[in-house]
Amino acid sequence: MRILTNFIDGAMAAPASGRYVDVEEPATGTVIAKAPDSDDADAARAVAAAEAAFPEWAATKAGERSRILLRIAELIDARADELARAESDDTGKPLSLARSLDIPRASANFRFFATAVLQTRSETHATDRIALNYTLRQPRGVVGLISPWNLPLYLLSWKIAPALATGNTAVAKPSELTPLTASLLADICVEAGLPKGVLNIVHGRGAGAGAALVRHPSVRTISFTGGTATGAAIAGLAAPAFKKLTLEMGGKNPALLFADADFEKSLPELVRASFTNQGQICLCASRILVEAPLYERFVARFVEHAKSLVIGDPLHEATNIGALISSGHREKIERYIALAREEGGTVRCGGGRPPNLPARCRHGYFLQPTVITGLPMSSRVNQEEIFGPVVTIAPFETEEEAVALANDSPYGLAASVWTGNVTRAHRVAARIECGTVWVNCWLIRDLRVPFGGMKQSGVGREGGDEAIRFFTEPKNVCLKL
Ligand code: NAD
Repeated sequence: MRILTNFIDGAMAAPASGRYVDVEEPATGTVIAKAPDSDDADAARAVAAAEAAFPEWAATKAGERSRILLRIAELIDARADELARAESDDTGKPLSLARSLDIPRASANFRFFATAVLQTRSETHATDRIALNYTLRQPRGVVGLISPWNLPLYLLSWKIAPALATGNTAVAKPSELTPLTASLLADICVEAGLPKGVLNIVHGRGAGAGAALVRHPSVRTISFTGGTATGAAIAGLAAPAFKKLTLEMGGKNPALLFADADFEKSLPELVRASFTNQGQICLCASRILVEAPLYERFVARFVEHAKSLVIGDPLHEATNIGALISSGHREKIERYIALAREEGGTVRCGGGRPPNLPARCRHGYFLQPTVITGLPMSSRVNQEEIFGPVVTIAPFETEEEAVALANDSPYGLAASVWTGNVTRAHRVAARIECGTVWVNCWLIRDLRVPFGGMKQSGVGREGGDEAIRFFTEPKNVCLKL
């Protein structure tokens, strides 16, 4: 049994209260670690360490900050197998996915921002012949970074890297459900020579450690990724204190398949978009809209593909679908499947717990990939985020209707459009209310592009220049000529 610690002021630290939360392995239902159940006292210690480290780190040359962050990236790569195994154990995701997606992306995040800060420039504005203005971009101080369980190290490093690269110091709060890789990252930071206090990691529950961090008066900048209800609670605490905030929240992403699309290429990509990471990626497709002439053929082939996915031990190479994050999350998804039936939908495949799991996984939180048809867009199943291996498919007649159905959602994170008509692709992409539209692809990620959502999916953007802007304060200096 691993007993995890916080990482404060460059050292491992037990929680002040002595309390811990159990960390389960979702694939087996067993407790594999205990993580600090931190509270206000731990958050305050971490913020104090970050505050003390800030002046020196902010004054450190960008090239030196970059060198240390590149070293962190190298060490992540060097320990990729260990990190991938920890991520798979902690989340239930296939080890092959942790190895190919999560861990490479974590080191890429560090590498990207370590080099991006060496390439930034700021604006100048000449005011007639009277004055010259130039903009300084200065770090904001101690930033709070709060992340979810679905892509633990991937999303935590997506926040840590730009925050530190731009000269801030940070207190990070990983999800209490998946603390293992954050703990390993603390070791890596020590080995990389990151000065003490620059990054602090406080484990614990949202209502404890998370809220303490958000409330702390010295934390003036908060970057949050997680559920929309949590985002609303954080915004409620942060707004009256005028904290700078980005919120990356839930999604209910449409995929629009037109009859002129390359059917054979689109089909496996849409299966991947729906079920990767057991459907627990904020960007997964959850509402597939299909042009009427293709509808029946598509449903039949999509169901066939979904049934062929291998559900099983995340450690097995052949496994496509691992376990869901927790027993409670599986029950929530099962309630949505029952609701789909009550709302008049037809479950075309899946809908239940898989039989014949390997003995090691008999008590794990597995659920079959589930495809539902026959639901109106107004149904709760089509309106609310399920965040699991459940997808609905509905037909549309015209492009106008497809766009209207896609936009009939409180969320606006991502969408995909599948068509062979390039004019249509641009036209539809421009009209969908969301932060990212993929055309004839899904989850191609360039770290320079703005990333985030509209409506209830988010406020602000991460990635590239957007992240650098978020983690810095622009100051205009006006010099009279
Ligand atoms: P969650 O909102 O329950 O938790 C996210 C984080 O917030 C955790 O670290 C949690 O401990 C913390 N937290 C909870 N309550 C808090 C509070 N009151 N104050 C401060 N911190 C608090 O989300 P989750 O269940 O971990 O993750 C799933 C959700 O995340 C889904 O809705 C998914 O769509 C969303 N998500 C969004 C993106 C994106 O980029 N938009 C990416 C991944 C996941």
